[in-house]
Amino acid sequence: KKFEDFGFNKQVLNAIADAGYENPTPIQQKAIPPILNGQDVLGIAQTGTGKTAAFVLPMIMKLKYAQGNDIRGLIVAPTRELAMQIEENVKTYAKYTDLRSSVIYGGLGPKTQIEALKKGVDILITTPGRFMDLYLEGHIITKKLEILVLDEADKMMDMGFMPQINKILEVVPRKRQNMLFSATMNQRVETLAENFLLWPTKIEV
Ligand code: AMP
Repeated sequence: KKFEDFGFNKQVLNAIADAGYENPTPIQQKAIPPILNGQDVLGIAQTGTGKTAAFVLPMIMKLKYAQGNDIRGLIVAPTRELAMQIEENVKTYAKYTDLRSSVIYGGLGPKTQIEALKKGVDILITTPGRFMDLYLEGHIITKKLEILVLDEADKMMDMGFMPQINKILEVVPRKRQNMLFSATMNQRVETLAENFLLWPTKIEV
């Protein structure tokens, strides 16, 4: 399949063309259709396979345009570096839309992050701990959340973030679309997938 065959709108297709991508990678081939269909997805894929675009492109297509002040898409990643990289990707792919993205992470004063949230954010990228800090202080409203992505879930578990992830899952709406990406598959990832995903489409590359 070509990118044009997924039913992406002009805004997304133009951003893909600007990025110089000619064809979808295998993970994109397999993940984009079920995500656009609204299904939950379990993706086993390493970094470098194009997995970020696999979940960000359909997320942009689904959220379409800026709406209100509350987050509608949330991406949780293990490290500040990865979170920042994902946000750069979101900005690149959403450049022809008015969708607003922002990244929050620990190890830095929260002031500028809080200011960005106040202006309104459609897609928020976060590390596990900082999310709950700002949520509990009332800076993040989750009522409108539609799509939740856990990226590099195996790494997040290795780093001991399971308690923070469970807390995040407690404060988001029940009805939502979920995606779980992991470089490896093991019992712990399987268990998380069972708790987090509903009838997921499983994809491995
Ligand atoms: P990721 O696996 O998400 O870290 O992506 C790895 C690299 O592949 C990034 O630099 C992307 O910009 C690039 N990339 C993603 N999708 C495509 C594509 N369809 N064609 C060419 N490069 C891509």
